[in-house]
Amino acid sequence: MRTAGLCRDASGRAATSQLRHEACDLDCMPECMQFDENELRLEARRRVATGRLPREPQQYLWAGAGDGQLCSLCDRLIHPQQIEYELQFNTNPQIIYRFHRICHQAWELECIAK
Ligand SMILES: [Zn+2]
Repeated sequence: MRTAGLCRDASGRAATSQLRHEACDLDCMPECMQFDENELRLEARRRVATGRLPREPQQYLWAGAGDGQLCSLCDRLIHPQQIEYELQFNTNPQIIYRFHRICHQAWELECIAK
């Protein structure tokens, strides 16, 4: 069970501001994860064009530690030591989209800014 609108960390506490501070930048992500921002934005555009990702702003957003699920943009695992963003949309509330922090950023830049 999840509580709508509540951010959680690994221990389930609400910790929005704390998470913001601990959120890793690109350079301190695990070495195995190589993200190319341009590539991510390209992929975001592609997935929106083919309907695999929504185009509108999310209705709900949760941030927390990854729980080993796949990212909706890059299809790679979101590791527990990474921040995972979970998004829910009005148009399709039964689907939860999960993103790495940087993937969410790329999607947002490609889709919401336009
Ligand atoms: Zn990703």
